[in-house]
Order: sequence, then structure tokens, then C-alpha cells
Amino acid sequence: MRNQIAAANWKMSLTLQQGEKLLSDIIAKPLKLSEQHKVIFAVPFPYLFMAQQKVGDKQQILIAAQNCYSKKSGAYTGEVSVEMLQSLDISFVVLGHSERREYFNETNQLIAEKINICLEYNITPIFCCGEPLTIREAGTQNIFVAQQLNECLFHLSQEQVQRIVIAYEPIWAIGTGKTATSEQAQEMHAYLRSVLAKKYTENIANNISILYGGSVKAGNAKELFSQPDVDGGLVGGASLNADEFAIIINSLK
Ligand code: PGA
Repeated sequence: MRNQIAAANWKMSLTLQQGEKLLSDIIAKPLKLSEQHKVIFAVPFPYLFMAQQKVGDKQQILIAAQNCYSKKSGAYTGEVSVEMLQSLDISFVVLGHSERREYFNETNQLIAEKINICLEYNITPIFCCGEPLTIREAGTQNIFVAQQLNECLFHLSQEQVQRIVIAYEPIWAIGTGKTATSEQAQEMHAYLRSVLAKKYTENIANNISILYGGSVKAGNAKELFSQPDVDGGLVGGASLNADEFAIIINSLK
């Protein structure tokens, strides 16, 4: 069975002390984690070391960066390389988030380069895709998201693509409180899996975890995650509350 994942995206929230407390509080909760479950905390760069120390050697609780640079090293003031992340034992990086695409002009081309360098260093990209509201209203969301996969992922080999996690995040649902219905999520996830099956193989498509993101909360996680092609969630706002995120974790199938 493919991994079922509850991933927290802290974005630019919390102080170091607040982040440390939140992690301690969540880890102390009774979490029902079975073998195929993973909990991932995507924390701001300055907190990676603290977070990594905090989760210690817990096999199913892992730390992610929220970004990385596409170059190996050099004179890129303010950037963080995958080699640096690897030296901290970070195993996941969120890439292609719509906020990075919108506010930092990240293109599919740049995201593809970042994916390549992560795979080279054995770091798993959590690749985000998803359409804006205008595209959803025009009914062309499938074409739009397939194009993102095509330009960011489809240069990868069969072996490489199996080392990716995909997060479908309709932009109109991010931070808006407006969640996609479980039917809308399932429909898109099944479509993405069919696109992956066509490009690679059915078997490969069936082994790739596809998370849903966009206003996942304690109250809707179970319903969303129960859909056959929804393998957990990438959670922003609701991951900042220990009680709420614990419920979301315990909603994984
Ligand atoms: P949200 O954010 O849960 O606050 O909508 C999700 C995300 O941006 O990953």
C-alpha cells in the first residue's frame, strides 16, 4: 500500500519557541500510526535543526524544508542548498507551492530543476500542483494541472518519479476556508493518477502518494482522506494547532 501522509506546512508562522512547543505537544498526543503512515513537518529553515532534534529517531515523524535552491552551492546569498539540507538529514522538501509560484515567480522550469537536484541528493520532493479559481470556473482544471505535471515531472525516469510525493492544492481552497468537496478531490486525484499511469505504468501510478491540500481541518480530514485516491493531506492553518493536527493525523486511512 502506498504511504498515507499528514504533512504540516507551517509557512512563515511561529517563533522558534512556539514551534518547539507545538512539536512537543503533537508528539505527546496519542497518534495512531501504522506502518504506511508518515507525519511530516515542513518548518521554516531556521527551525530545521531544532525540529530534527525534537523528532529524534521516530521512524514515522519526519521533517521537511519548505523550499531549496536549484544550484549545488556558490555565491547565492540568502539561498539554501540541498546539500545543506542533506547534512541535517532532511528527507523531504516542499516544491512548487502556489505561494512560491505567485509571490516568488517560480516557474515550472525552475521547479523541475529543483526536483532534479533533490532527487540527486536523495531528498523527496513534495511537488505541489493545482489550479486557480478562474481555471476551475472555466472547467479546464484537468488540462491545467496535467500541464504542470508534464512540465515539472515528466522528464523523470520511471525510477525517479517513484521517489516523488504529489500534493494537489486547488489555489482557491488554500487558506480560504473553502475546501474542495471530497468528490472534487477524488475526481482530480484519480485523473492525476490516470495521467501518471499513461506516462509511466499503472503500477507506478498506484505507488505514488497524492495528498490533498487546501483548508484541510479536523472536521473534514476523515471524509477527504477516505477517498480511494486521496493519500492524506498537506495542511497549513490547521497544522498550527496541536489538537487539530493530531485529529488530522489520526484521520489517515
Ligand atoms: P491551508 O494551506 O491548509 O491553510 O489552506 C494549505 C497549504 O498551503 O499547503
